[in-house]
Amino acid sequence: MHSDELFERARHRIPGGVNSPVRAFRGVGGTPRFIARASGCRMWDVDGNELIDYIGSWGPMIVGHTHPEVVEALTEALARGTSYGAPTGLEVELAETIAGAVPSMEMLRLTSSGTEATMSAIRVARGFTERSKLIKFEGCYHGHADSLLVKAGSGVATLGLPDSPGVTPGAVADTLVARFNDLGSVSALFEAADGDVACVIVEPVAGNMGTVPPAPGFLEGLRELCTRHGAVLVFDEVMTGFRVARGGAQARYGVTPDVTCLGKIIGGGLPVGAYGGRRDIMERVAPAGPIYQAGTLSGNPLAVTAGLVTLRLLESDSVYAQLDATVAAIADGITALAGEAGVPTVTNRVGSMWTTFFHDGPAVTDWNTASASDTRRYGRFFHAMLDRGIYLAPSQYEAAFVGLAHTGDAVEFTLDAAREAFRAVGPA
Ligand SMILES: *Cc1c(COP(=O)(O)O)cnc(C)c1O
Repeated sequence: MHSDELFERARHRIPGGVNSPVRAFRGVGGTPRFIARASGCRMWDVDGNELIDYIGSWGPMIVGHTHPEVVEALTEALARGTSYGAPTGLEVELAETIAGAVPSMEMLRLTSSGTEATMSAIRVARGFTERSKLIKFEGCYHGHADSLLVKAGSGVATLGLPDSPGVTPGAVADTLVARFNDLGSVSALFEAADGDVACVIVEPVAGNMGTVPPAPGFLEGLRELCTRHGAVLVFDEVMTGFRVARGGAQARYGVTPDVTCLGKIIGGGLPVGAYGGRRDIMERVAPAGPIYQAGTLSGNPLAVTAGLVTLRLLESDSVYAQLDATVAAIADGITALAGEAGVPTVTNRVGSMWTTFFHDGPAVTDWNTASASDTRRYGRFFHAMLDRGIYLAPSQYEAAFVGLAHTGDAVEFTLDAAREAFRAVGPA
């Protein structure tokens, strides 16, 4: 079976042929590759092509695919049972490991996805403050819960869906939208909401409109505003947790939120999420407190095992220095090659994530600037790279991810491909 045939069959039974919209290549055209297997920084599609993978399952695969230690631990765990619906020591160990790396998470709860984590964090913030409204940012994506599906990034931005049918006006009536990197827009909403803001939720480094770092002072300003107005500051670090630093963006930028959401890396490629934070807030969660949240497979032993091994492999600081250096080499290389080919681009990078925007510049700092990118040219570049064995995100509005398995050889191969791909795209 080839990708084309599988996609044909898939579209008959699965909406759009995929189980998550961004996989469908709608932002770049063409047929998605169906994957047969993966190892290290490489994947092989069912058509027999070898691809250097810069998606990494959209973030989780930071130690590389089928890392031998992860596979071994999973194999052993599998024989002990796949789910018990009763507590395990593994969950305690993961909670302690996370709290050790992210000290603001004094207590935490495991879920099965990032969406569940953010959705639950919002409920807890509202229950704790006894207020209704939340502030989110245009272009930030926090999963697909109703109240957060407003001016969202990722697939919502790729498909140009301003809001989703099925989300009722009531569900979003308390969602206020501010501009990323614009503190003035946040304080204006606080003033207008007159003491009814339960929380501000933000991707501290935006990744779901492409990579957009926080401007100096932005996160500090959010901290101050939340403290002054008695609102809960929620950092959605589902993407950035254990990625931009072991302690996430809050460690990298030195700003402490009240509640943090995690996912992706902490499951090592299996389904996991987590939310946690200040003890006085988290003690309001059932059964310790009255705010209800639950999950049949939460803290699943296989997922927790993969997460624990992955987090152990990320223990030393040198790991993050290596990731930063790899992305720096790629980003600098790409910027130079685009310049040589006369293709206007802006490349943003933070830690092991980067995005090359097909954009006249001078800078991409929020959704307004990000959405001025030339997505058609991105699509041409994407396909030129894919034809040369480089698998980037099939959308301008996503980050590219590097992991520990991306070696110098892989980077060199990638830049050689980029040289040809920029020529193929041609000057503006
Ligand atoms: C991926 C992501 C989510 C959603 O996580 P899922 O596991 O896909 O539900 C939420 N927030 C951010 C910042 C993400 O990148």
